[in-house]
Amino acid sequence: MDYLKEYRRKRKSAETPEPAGEVKKSGHNRFVVQEHQSSRLHYDFRLEITASPTGGEWVLKSWAVPKGVPIEAGIKHLAVAVEDHPVDYIDFEGTIPEGLYGAGTVRIWDSGQYELIKRTSKELEFTLKGKRLEGRYVLIQTGWKGKDNWLIFKAKEKNVKTV
Ligand code: MN
Repeated sequence: MDYLKEYRRKRKSAETPEPAGEVKKSGHNRFVVQEHQSSRLHYDFRLEITASPTGGEWVLKSWAVPKGVPIEAGIKHLAVAVEDHPVDYIDFEGTIPEGLYGAGTVRIWDSGQYELIKRTSKELEFTLKGKRLEGRYVLIQTGWKGKDNWLIFKAKEKNVKTV
């Protein structure tokens, strides 16, 4: 299965500075949040993971988060699932020219490692170890309303450890 077909279909590879849609072997558990100043500012949250819960190639599972990934627990933000991105997009920063898909400036807002806790087709739970984002996060699908809408939030601590 060609998981990056949609990624390539949306882009003109000769014109965009973005990485080509090549599948690369991975196995790293990284994440990135890219601030994307396009027609509407949003943040793209991406997890380096197999394309499906049952396996497949390594890609960046991606969500567009209009309000950004919450830093504090208990705040739920909309995250719209978008096409899988190639693994090497994780380092991408730059300006996509006017007239192209996603035109505007992309810069890395946070990056780091994650540890997977749970994964189904409708829910992901993981611990983020980034510079800004830290702790246990949940991404959960809320159903189809024309778009593949999910919610992202930081889980509240179950056990408060005393020092
Ligand atoms: Mn974007």
